Amino acid sequence: MHQLTLAEIARGLADKKFSSEELTRVLLARIAQLDPQLNSFISLTEELALQQAQAADARRAKGETGALLGAPIAHKDLFCTQGIRTSCGSKMLDNFKAPYDATVVAKLAAAGAVTLGKTNMDEFAMGSANESSYYGAVKNPWNLEHVPGGSSGGSAAAVAARLLPAATATDTGGSIRQPAAFTNLTGLKPTYGRVSRWGMIAYASSLDQGGPLARTAEDCAILLQGMAGFDANDSTSIDEPVPDYSASLNGSLQGLRIGVPKEYFSEGLDPRIAELIHNSVKELQKLGAVVKEISLPNMQPAIAAYYVIAPAEASSNLSRFDGVRFGYRCEDPKDLTDLYKRSRGEGFGAEVQRRIMVGAYALSAGYYDAYYLKAQKIRRLVKNDFMAAFNEVDIILGPTTPNPAWKLGAKNSDPVAAYLEDVYTITANLAGLPGLSMPAGFVDGLPVGVQLLAPYFQEGRLLNVAHQYQLNTDWHTRTPTGF
Ligand code: GLN
Repeated sequence: MHQLTLAEIARGLADKKFSSEELTRVLLARIAQLDPQLNSFISLTEELALQQAQAADARRAKGETGALLGAPIAHKDLFCTQGIRTSCGSKMLDNFKAPYDATVVAKLAAAGAVTLGKTNMDEFAMGSANESSYYGAVKNPWNLEHVPGGSSGGSAAAVAARLLPAATATDTGGSIRQPAAFTNLTGLKPTYGRVSRWGMIAYASSLDQGGPLARTAEDCAILLQGMAGFDANDSTSIDEPVPDYSASLNGSLQGLRIGVPKEYFSEGLDPRIAELIHNSVKELQKLGAVVKEISLPNMQPAIAAYYVIAPAEASSNLSRFDGVRFGYRCEDPKDLTDLYKRSRGEGFGAEVQRRIMVGAYALSAGYYDAYYLKAQKIRRLVKNDFMAAFNEVDIILGPTTPNPAWKLGAKNSDPVAAYLEDVYTITANLAGLPGLSMPAGFVDGLPVGVQLLAPYFQEGRLLNVAHQYQLNTDWHTRTPTGF
């Protein structure tokens, strides 16, 4: 039963082959048995899950339908869940029980989804290996000595290991797409503003966006449908109707114009990944797509711009964790300054402290023009590059990451080495564009992802291309040994 996708679960529940409660019990037992190897969950919510499953079964018994009604999922532990610990992977929030549900959590619960637990993540979503979590590193089910990617590494490892069919995640600079690539999943970062950020603990507010992690594009369509939509509580949420994503899956790819940026295939890209990406292009050509070389000249400066803008926003967002209002407070403070200093010094881990310092520095009076303003100018150039490219092509295709998942600990002493691995993903966040990563093959037994980018609000196009690709390839069906 644990091999079923969301789409198959919906059919099984509708056909009364099993109940949501039965499925939920199977998956909870599987998590108890296998998660100790992976560490993909921070909290399990067994009681809530069984209540929600029974409620979903009762709704189905009364004739209600819906693709998510009774479907087991989990939430990345930065989505606020009422009365349940919402840690953001940090000691700072280890004792924080959210007083309300994030909009995404509330919407999915209303659609009948069953929450099995809260997944592990890099502290405050800062990282790309899930090693900065206060709750310990997450292991990649494809090779337990390797990282699962980050910051949504817990959601990715759990879904890849078939502990559950899908999970929510967030992407500030790649944290849905990169872990999807590292664990053989399909992950979608929507257009900025498509999914409400209300109740999603902020890292860098102008870049953060929630989205689905699942095994197939078909399942991403189902989960995104439950997450997307206007929310008056989020002033950056966009009041545009949400299309029927599942209905968009079956469009023909005849004549689809795919742009492949020449800058993507430079030094730094593992040549074996380059070959797999070219193979995926050929596959799409067989389905009728036409390929065109394009240029995204500001890809390299974009990394530097991102690692100024994201820390700058983080330094402001994280100033609320002061030991006074909520979260960790140090023991026996001498005075107010000591309380602030020690609460933040003891509550935040090394990577978070590094980012706060970089961000505060870049925003300080003497350096604002040289760093922050300059980074914002590069951000505009990145957006302009994409706008020019989308005049000529319908979709942009390339690798999700330059290398496959690295070994645990391999980049701990060199944060910049890890930052450089984000080269293909962060431009979509800077521009606010939607992006998807899907399985494209293996290198040394580790999964490789191909990334697709589309114009604003064209999530349906991304899902369409990925679904057609998945109907004609079987990479996404591979299961890690031992799971
Ligand atoms: N690796 C990037 C960072 O550390 C992206 C993280 C994310 O998308 N949350 O900032």
